[in-house]
Amino acid sequence: MTEEEPDWQTVKSELLEGVLKRGAMVARVGDPDLLADVAPGQRPSDLLPQVKSMIVLGGSAPRVGEWNSPRAEVLETVGTSDRMAAIGSALARQIEERLGYYAMNVPTSTDQDDKPFLDFTAAAVAAGAGSPSLAGPVLHPEHGFVYLTVILTSLPLPFDGPIEQPACPAPSCVEMYDQRGVTPCTDVCNIDDGGCLGGQIQDGLVIGRRYDANRCRDRVYHYWVPGYQAVLEKVLSEPDVERRKMMLYGSYFTRTMWSITYSNVSQGQCFECMRVCPVGAENRMLK
Ligand code: SF4
Ligand code: SF4
Repeated sequence: MTEEEPDWQTVKSELLEGVLKRGAMVARVGDPDLLADVAPGQRPSDLLPQVKSMIVLGGSAPRVGEWNSPRAEVLETVGTSDRMAAIGSALARQIEERLGYYAMNVPTSTDQDDKPFLDFTAAAVAAGAGSPSLAGPVLHPEHGFVYLTVILTSLPLPFDGPIEQPACPAPSCVEMYDQRGVTPCTDVCNIDDGGCLGGQIQDGLVIGRRYDANRCRDRVYHYWVPGYQAVLEKVLSEPDVERRKMMLYGSYFTRTMWSITYSNVSQGQCFECMRVCPVGAENRMLK
């Protein structure tokens, strides 16, 4: 007697309903084959050869109070991506232990040469968890910026597929670009004025996006591993004992150590481009 094939749509609905109850705001399934063209080593099958579907979860955005704090440092230090990773790990365990299929919550840390293990943007776009933005992060049309986690599995779940209408540029950004030649994100971090972002909008689409990754990274991660390495290099070449002490016990190095040992402290992005983005802005306002 052959084993009856499960109703994969029902399996999918139960799994996704579970993660939505646990706190994810977005839960979609994508076809891993849509990532066939990404860099070798960052494709789903490079991580899990048995992969048949990718579950992409999004959520855990900063709280509304944090978005609205006049102190930029508040947003910089409230990275909450680990909450999504915890939900992803629980889902992977559920798939393996209850259903008997392979599942991997892709590490959100970086691999060799500081590269991600997976092209998270491509995975999110393939599943329809959002669309790429001029500012960089994937934006969900309703929720805007969300942290992402991706679970690769050998479960053959039905795919949701990419969204039809990209979230970026928002209609108000197109209007602003037509009037001033900038959008909220390129205005606040303009690549031609010491910032990191630039690009044009033509026929409602972003074209010729410009992004200074090194400058952005410097601002985003300046208290994390690169900050630690930069101070260490300076300390090792500093001959003056007192100056060496000042460098090691000063606030910059202390915060750097906090950010490494407590992981998410001071390693969120600087967020200024997202703070001004109109996508999901209504969720960042309360009374
Ligand atoms: S995260 Fe900050 S530095 Fe990077 S592009 Fe956005 S506003 Fe600019
Ligand atoms: S502000 Fe947001 S929606 Fe507007 S162009 Fe920038 S990333 Fe896109």
